[in-house]
Amino acid sequence: MTEDLKSIMPSRDDLNREMFERNKSEEELARLNDQLASKNRELEQIVYVTSHDLRSPLVNINGFSREIATSLDDLKSLLLRRESSPELKEKIHNIIEKDIPESLKFIVTSSSKMDSLLSGLLRLSRLGRAELKCEGLNMNKLMSDIVSSFEFQAKESGIKIDISILPSCNGDESQINQVFFNLIGNAVKYLSPERQGVVKVSGYSEDGQSVYCVEDNGIGIAPEHQEKIFEIFYQLEPGQSAGEGLGLTIVKRILEKHNGKIWLESEKGRGSRVYVHLPA
Ligand code: ADP
Repeated sequence: MTEDLKSIMPSRDDLNREMFERNKSEEELARLNDQLASKNRELEQIVYVTSHDLRSPLVNINGFSREIATSLDDLKSLLLRRESSPELKEKIHNIIEKDIPESLKFIVTSSSKMDSLLSGLLRLSRLGRAELKCEGLNMNKLMSDIVSSFEFQAKESGIKIDISILPSCNGDESQINQVFFNLIGNAVKYLSPERQGVVKVSGYSEDGQSVYCVEDNGIGIAPEHQEKIFEIFYQLEPGQSAGEGLGLTIVKRILEKHNGKIWLESEKGRGSRVYVHLPA
């Protein structure tokens, strides 16, 4: 090969480098594609679950509004009878004192349910748009502030909350606060009435990550529910607790934004351990 030709031909090193770069961008593309597919699945699931969960209170509102309309028709025809037998009085009394208030109660409960589902969705969407302000976090201080907000409840119900020395991590203070507030809140909320409640928070460092564990000796979660509890609005016993099945969805979303992760070890009837990984 002449010197001229050599100078315009890429060298073996150039080709290797180009190949390496191409492989790297293909890998990156595949990773982004996977991420997009998983986001799409998540979005489809949110749309499905949300429309299902919003539909049931709406069906109730519709049904009980019709009941009220029927009750009012009945009432009108009873009043038009122009008689005053005790039987007629009792019928009117039942409609005014029982049927209509009962239907109204269902309408009010269902519309409050819809309101809390919608405000939950709004919180989730705000979280998606909020910018992260990451900084080094003193987790001992953060955790003891969180635990002190459960102090009254712990004292009242005789719950023991134990915090070990924790490694620091890097994250958005208010969002990381939300994560552990939810996890400790759940640990306290789902304790077993059969024994004294004990909640332990511990942590360690591993491969540039800080790992935290929130452990409880509560009612535990059966294997078939363990993945599902992170889904939006999923509850093992809907209506039994004050929440609306959104806490763990928010926790998972916050950890994804921090390149962290969460997983669970739990045994029904014995308790749960929730692990959180965050950049150190
Ligand atoms: P919420 O507590 O508002 O219902 P979450 O998203 O925080 O919603 O939790 C979803 C469900 O997972 C809860 O309704 C409960 O059934 C179950 N769960 C969460 N944490 C625990 C726990 N520590 N022990 C037992 N069950 C739990």
